[in-house]
Amino acid sequence: MRLTFWGVRGSVATPEAENQNYGGNTPCVELRLGQGRSLVFDAGLGLRWQSNRMLDERPADNCVEILLSHCHWDHIQGIPFAPVMYVPHNHVTIHGAGYPHRPLLANLMEQLRPEFCPVPNFFHDEVGANVTVNPLTSDPWFEALGAKIRWGFLPRGTSSSIVVGYRVEYRKKRVAYLTDVEYPARPEDCSEAMELAEKVDVLIHDAQFLPDEREIARDRGHSTYEDAIALARAAKVKRLICTHHDPSRSDRELDEVAAWLRQLKDLQVEVAREGLEFEL
Ligand SMILES: [Zn+2]
Repeated sequence: MRLTFWGVRGSVATPEAENQNYGGNTPCVELRLGQGRSLVFDAGLGLRWQSNRMLDERPADNCVEILLSHCHWDHIQGIPFAPVMYVPHNHVTIHGAGYPHRPLLANLMEQLRPEFCPVPNFFHDEVGANVTVNPLTSDPWFEALGAKIRWGFLPRGTSSSIVVGYRVEYRKKRVAYLTDVEYPARPEDCSEAMELAEKVDVLIHDAQFLPDEREIARDRGHSTYEDAIALARAAKVKRLICTHHDPSRSDRELDEVAAWLRQLKDLQVEVAREGLEFEL
């Protein structure tokens, strides 16, 4: 399978020139299981480019399974602008958690209201692809495209927003995706995060803040690089990729972080970059 980073920027897109090396699209990571069969972690603006390449390779009979962490704008704003949504004979399933008072489908329909969005509503049967929603409920495991997927709620500080992390197991390879997480104490004390990340081949983790930004990061619903590293070490992860970069983080600053991370000898860890792609 092939892992591709299509969007690595947290909170808001950053098209400025000083961000172009690491990229300005909001979160989207593709786990391609085969031609026309992809799992996609989050649906930020990077989803548009994932969708374009998939349709270039095969216009129809694609199956996309989107694993949403939560419904904040930076994680869903690519959905209305992903071409696959409008091409018949493609299949898209959006997995994610809702609220007791607000199911997932209701949230996704909200962003397609014509007051907010100019595109046709692809949840209607006569429009575009076959698009369905799978609201995650009590069973922590489900299957998609032959992969076993575990999900769990992650802590977010004092934020009232829920957030979901994922672990994917496919042909003896394991990938975990944990973003927009703020640990109340040591990351290794969070049993849900530890179970999702345990001994994975690749852990993709939120690292919005630098270690010396710990205080300003409090109650912002995000992790520091040190949080991500602590969890990766405790969970015996093979490779850690830090993502969801703060919108104020320039290429120069991320280069400095990358140089620091390369000095760590006990862990393979790197800074996510748009276009980073490799086989697992
Ligand atoms: Zn986010």
